[in-house]
Amino acid sequence: MLYQRTMAKRVQVTGIGIHSGKKVSLTLYPAEADFGIQFKRTDIPNSSVIKASAFSVGATENNTTLGQGENCVHTVEHLLAVLYGLGINNVYCEVDGPEVPIMDGSGASFVFVLKETGVATLNKSKKFLVILETIRVQVGDKWAQIEPSSKLEIQSTIVFAHPIIKKQTFNFEFSCENFINEISRARTFGMMKDVDSLKRKGLIKGGSLDNAIVLDDFKVMNSEGLRFKDEFIRHKILDTIGDISLVGHELAGKVTTFKSGHNLHNLLCRKLFETPSAYQIVSASSLKKEVLETFELPKAMIPTYH
Ligand SMILES: [Zn+2]
Repeated sequence: MLYQRTMAKRVQVTGIGIHSGKKVSLTLYPAEADFGIQFKRTDIPNSSVIKASAFSVGATENNTTLGQGENCVHTVEHLLAVLYGLGINNVYCEVDGPEVPIMDGSGASFVFVLKETGVATLNKSKKFLVILETIRVQVGDKWAQIEPSSKLEIQSTIVFAHPIIKKQTFNFEFSCENFINEISRARTFGMMKDVDSLKRKGLIKGGSLDNAIVLDDFKVMNSEGLRFKDEFIRHKILDTIGDISLVGHELAGKVTTFKSGHNLHNLLCRKLFETPSAYQIVSASSLKKEVLETFELPKAMIPTYH
């Protein structure tokens, strides 16, 4: 049996929002089985809770935003990716501003914090969303699809005219360990030439070399260089995991994307839910042992049972 997980105790992280540039505190609380991931804006009096779901996604420009109007939380994707990557299903997230802190632009800080906090196992089986038919969405030359597979696999391709990026493809076979080692540390990235126009739109006010890879026309401007030679496509996998985790369950399916972004990932989730014959939600106990084993956590993070 593979059980749902939460955190062993409450934990708070503070950082800045990449788009707002403002300091923000995020407090994560353990939650009961089947609670899911829910967000609450504590800086807005009597704000309603926002459930992390593909149907709660509002804006998708340069980040994934949950909620509508003022009661929304921007840049949830890296935190959501880490929760999925560690198999954590149930968390109540309080945030005292409009955005999840960007930390170093990757999921590494959230992995570190959750390692320190510990993972707790709940007395209820995980549920898997198993893909039965291929679903595909396309916008111009960009596309994303999900097709049947016994476990979560993601193959992503990005294409940029930049000489350091060009065309990169990455094949990711999900396991908690692979996620931590290969994907969680990959940082977001941007082009120096786009900085002014994004700032005029009110975006990336908090962006800096401390929380993103920044490229001029020829090279990486960060003095420490890249964490992986293909860090860019690894970050795309991180974003993809965060966005598709909004289906609300562990996934058994193969996701393939070409030049995709947050918008396309959300369209894929919504089209999937509009096609009831394309998926089935099952208890983890009906999946093969080798699939369940991919959710084993590294020794340092072994869940505590209660
Ligand atoms: Zn990202």
